[in-house]
Amino acid sequence: MECPNCKKQTLFRKGFKLVCSNPNCRYTITVPVNDGKGGKGNKCPVCGRFTWFNGRCSSCGAHD
Ligand SMILES: [Zn+2]
Ligand SMILES: [Zn+2]
Repeated sequence: MECPNCKKQTLFRKGFKLVCSNPNCRYTITVPVNDGKGGKGNKCPVCGRFTWFNGRCSSCGAHD
């Protein structure tokens, strides 16, 4: 992918982040766990839905 910072094709996905492998840039973006598409998160201990992202449930609002 093209890095929005250095404009080179050096942007790679690394877990939940997009990381630029250009040593002079090192741009990183945190990608939403579900990519904004409503993908599966972890199971919420309160409502039981798989909508637990980053310590917070996006369905019922429960959090750590
Ligand atoms: Zn870059
Ligand atoms: Zn919940």
